[in-house]
Amino acid sequence: MKLIMLGPPGAGKGTQAQMLVERLRIPQVSTGDLLRAAVREGTELGRQAKSFMDQGRLVPDEVVIGMIRERLARPDCQGGFVLDGFPRAVAQAQALDRMLAETGRRLDAVLSIEVPEGELLRRLTGRLSCPACGAMFHKDSKPPRKSGLCDNCGSRLITRDDDREETIRKRLSVYAEQTEPLKPYYRNQGLLKPISGSGTPVEIGRAIREALGIKDV
Ligand code: AMP
Repeated sequence: MKLIMLGPPGAGKGTQAQMLVERLRIPQVSTGDLLRAAVREGTELGRQAKSFMDQGRLVPDEVVIGMIRERLARPDCQGGFVLDGFPRAVAQAQALDRMLAETGRRLDAVLSIEVPEGELLRRLTGRLSCPACGAMFHKDSKPPRKSGLCDNCGSRLITRDDDREETIRKRLSVYAEQTEPLKPYYRNQGLLKPISGSGTPVEIGRAIREALGIKDV
């Protein structure tokens, strides 16, 4: 299946994408993760992207489109993929449509996870990230077993630069202005599946599988 996970920052796109990866055995392709890896590695692309990311702004389209083109051409994406954090603007969605058409592929569905803004702010301000393995925790809803340390690899957890409050507000307004227009774009293509993102990750996962017609075992 070729899927897009759409939703504001903090909606749980990454968590749900990961559940689909396990269920469908397709790769998760996250532009946020790819960009953070480039920043960590100190590549030229990473240096360019960092200032946009720290301000909660979108990295220029040509940068992320190039990254996605290269990633989707790899063998592991030929049987399907779940895109997480891409596209984030109509120009990116149009580029993706062209890219897929060139290789005779089509999207199967766009899952739009809907969460009220107040709830998003609460979730995002308590986020803790592992700089080494990328695991995510939350000070209230998913605290690490040992305070301040990653459950998986033991590294010291951090608040990502782009999870600071003023950056979060900026990311939410960028989402409303630039990414929300993707909903009518995909609704017109008959691909949009709205999913309530207010429940637990397990409940949201169930709603997603139901929307995709995947049987629960
Ligand atoms: P995320 O982890 O998906 O919230 O992404 C973190 C940051 O990376 C965003 O706030 C943007 O600065 C940048 N980013 C991720 N995906 C995209 C994209 N598709 N287009 C532009 N910028 C992106």
